[in-house]
Amino acid sequence: MKAIGIDIGGTTIKGAIVDEKRKIHHQITTPTNISEGRNGILASLTATIDQLLEKETDIAGIGIGTAGRVNVDSGEVIYSTANLPGWQSINLSEFITNTYALPAIIDNDANAALAGEWWNIDEAYESVTFLTLGTGVGGANMIHRKIFRGNHWNGGEWGHVILFPEGRTCNCGKRGCIEQYLAGAALVKIANEQSGRTYKNGAELFDDFQKGDREIIPIVERYLDDLVLVVYNLSVSIDPEAVIIGGGVIESKDQWWDVFGQKLAERGVHLNVLPATLGNKAGMIGAVKLLFDAMSKGGEV
Ligand SMILES: [Zn+2]
Repeated sequence: MKAIGIDIGGTTIKGAIVDEKRKIHHQITTPTNISEGRNGILASLTATIDQLLEKETDIAGIGIGTAGRVNVDSGEVIYSTANLPGWQSINLSEFITNTYALPAIIDNDANAALAGEWWNIDEAYESVTFLTLGTGVGGANMIHRKIFRGNHWNGGEWGHVILFPEGRTCNCGKRGCIEQYLAGAALVKIANEQSGRTYKNGAELFDDFQKGDREIIPIVERYLDDLVLVVYNLSVSIDPEAVIIGGGVIESKDQWWDVFGQKLAERGVHLNVLPATLGNKAGMIGAVKLLFDAMSKGGEV
């Protein structure tokens, strides 16, 4: 069995054909085309799906993870930011089913990424919390093998849990959100402010950390202390078997993961903390996993 998995972000739409052994057969990346609003995004989405459908005839359905908040029951994007203009209130499930006459499932992109990462560790745990540290901070929760989406489809928004009540202003309108400290982009911003340097990405910064740069060490140590605090808070709130950490920051994990592990031990955090393994393919693969799971339950997809 094969299906199409799609990951819709503010910059690109990624699509792939994925089989039931989670192997990717074809993959396409298309610019999201947000300058034309909803119609532009839909044009990019259908171009991606059309190209994939040309590669294979036997497609069981389409799974989509999208940025924004998604009512998984109705297939509607109930909230989206300016990153996807015009996206809010679209019923993507109806659009896909009407356009392609294929079963479709739509979910938030972090939920889809968690499903993908969980699939990729052979569903090793019953309860998993997922954190992505990238341009922003996303997250998702799985409890008893089911994604826990919350009463307003907003569960797992760890990026907007408040870490410092009087802290940095967040684009959500609050202050001191985790995203303003633990996003890879936030770390680079803070490091540039404090060091007067002009790092362009976290990879450069973590390189200097590993080289023992005295000005950078306290900045990254502080970052890792904050990350440990977040994982500690997850351990006493959700108490999952495992926390998976993904996002761009994990690409530099060789430079910081050992120090992070020591800090977790010092704080007495006893749960499995794992680096994500699928990189930016997690959302596409996970969207297919969600589709297959829904289909195997025999429920309406
Ligand atoms: Zn916020």
